[in-house]
Formats: sequence, C-alpha cells, structure tokens
Amino acid sequence: MSKTLLQTTIAGSLPKPAWLAQPNQLWAPWLPQGESLNEAKRDATRLAIRDQERAGIDILSDGEQSRRHFVTGYLEHLKGIDFEHLVTMHIRQRYDAKVPQVVGPVARPRPVHSEDVRLLRAETEHPIKYTLPGPMTIVDTLHDSHYRNRARLAMVLARILNKEARELERLGVDVIQFDEPAFNVYMDEVKSWGIEALERAADGLKCKTAVHICYGYGIKANIDWKKTLGSQWRQYEQIFPVIARSAIDQVSLECHNSKVPIELIGLLDGKDVMVGAIDVATEKIETPQEVARTIRAALKFVAPHKLFPCTNCGMVPLPRAVALGKLHALADGAKLVRAELAKTAARRKPNPKHKEK
Ligand code: ZN
Repeated sequence: MSKTLLQTTIAGSLPKPAWLAQPNQLWAPWLPQGESLNEAKRDATRLAIRDQERAGIDILSDGEQSRRHFVTGYLEHLKGIDFEHLVTMHIRQRYDAKVPQVVGPVARPRPVHSEDVRLLRAETEHPIKYTLPGPMTIVDTLHDSHYRNRARLAMVLARILNKEARELERLGVDVIQFDEPAFNVYMDEVKSWGIEALERAADGLKCKTAVHICYGYGIKANIDWKKTLGSQWRQYEQIFPVIARSAIDQVSLECHNSKVPIELIGLLDGKDVMVGAIDVATEKIETPQEVARTIRAALKFVAPHKLFPCTNCGMVPLPRAVALGKLHALADGAKLVRAELAKTAARRKPNPKHKEK
C-alpha cells in the first residue's frame, strides 16, 4: 500500500443507480431480472469505482452494488437459513424487522463474493477494501430456531466468514472489513463472545483486517435511538479497550456530527483508525474545511500514518448526487490536512544547505 498519509476510504456502501434499484431506500428490490441483473450490478460497480477514483478516494470499495443489504446480501447465499418464513424481531433494541430464521446447520455451499472481488481488482489500480457483515451483527439479524445460542451461532458464522475472507484475500483484497454495528449495543456480549467471534472471522488473514462500528444509517429508528443516548455517546469507551487488545488492525467509527467524545479514539492505541468525517444521516454535503476540522481533532489522538479519513457509515440511502459530493469533500478535506502536515514537516527538517556553511 502506498505511503501517502491520511489515505481516504469509505465505510462501504454507495447509493445504487436508479436503473438497478429504487433510490433513497434501504433493502430496495432489484429492478432488472435474470442475466440483465448481473450485468447491471457489474456496470454499477464500475461506476462506483470511477466515482471514488475521480473524487480522489485512496482505498476503494465496490460500493456494495451487488448486495441489497449488508447482512442479508450475504446470508441469502447460505444454507440452513429460511427466507420464506420470516419472523418479526426487535433489531439492536431499536426497531422491528421481519428477519429470516436459522432452521438447520448453517453452511456456505460456495464462495459468495469472489466474482465481485475479481471485478473490483481488475477495474482499479488502487488498494481495495471489501466489507463483510460481522458475526455478532448477523446473529442479531436472525431468528435462531436451531442452535438457540447466540455465541454458538456466531462461531459457526465466524468460520464461514473466515473461509470467505481468506478467498477474497487470495484474490487481491488489501483490507477486509467486518461490519459490527451491534458492538455498540451489546457491550457485555462483545466482551464475552463478540470479539472472539470477530477474531475467528479474521483468523490467519495477512491482509489488513478492520471492524466498522457505528450508530447506523440516517434512518428514523436510528435517529430516534440516538436521541436517547444523552449528550455524550460513550458506548465506544466500553468496547475500544477490548478491540485494542484484539488482533484486528483497523477500526472504523463515527465522528463528524456525532456526540462521540473524540478523545475516546485514544483508547485504540496501536490500531489504525478510520475516522468518520462524513455524516451519512444528512443530505447536507460537508465542506472540505469541515472534513479537515474533524481530521485535525482526531490527529490529537492518533498519528497521521494511522489515520484514515472515512465516512461515518454506509451511504446507500442517500441520493446519488449527495453521496458523490460527500466523496469529493472527504478527499478534498484530507488533502487540506495533508498539505498542512507537509508544511509542518518541511519547517521541522533542517535545511541541508545551512548545514554546509
Ligand atoms: Zn455503519
């Protein structure tokens, strides 16, 4: 990976084109059918890559263009899960959703994302990141009528994810990120089995491994939940020390416009930090100066080579033009701070000509 400081990246998803799925909507059904759907997904992925490149993003994702949802988009490829008979469940203590149920041993008949990664790897020279749902967040999105034990189901899923991740690494992925928004809700379970399941999912990987934790998309249930969290959001305070001791390399978290005290980043000593400098809960596009301000604040707690400016969460529910504007703001904001760091470094370096005299 190149040595540029403050390399930018996104949490994962980007909005889909209106010809692929209904815009501004989570879980939007696909519009094309059959083989045209596969072709449309590939075309949308190419556009997502181009948009990131043009904006100046450094570590690229496929924008999750081939998945309807970050969790079920993976689960629908597994065996042992019944998608026909959905069960209403209360998700992350926030909202009711109809979820699939585990009805037998969960298994992965074949690799899920290999083709997506082959395409991503072939379409860009940039380092690439691929996102997978984390075991704990999957468990929290399933009704389990088979294992009847959250930790046990998580370990089964972790082994499946690990196989998938190893294959994606072999296909040239530079960063594998597991999305674990559930870590912010079940802090005790993170300690008792969540982190172990995550480490098992990342076991043996030589590429960078990352975990994304956040306060969710800008949907109403999440906005209402955030209102109950008080003036300071300190959930990270409980889980960051656990993650800091883990084998995971990078942590992606929400910062801009959130009530997370920025000093909590200090608890991630030794880790790379993907600092959320773009709010995904508003259609207002940040200015590069606003992005720069968030990065500068984070730099007080993390070294520049360990800081990766990022979005707070996925941008899938946003209008496409807004997401594109936010990509540019993210890259331009990082550029501003990079220039400041270069200036400071130049000022500190003794001038060799002066030495000669
Ligand atoms: Zn998120």
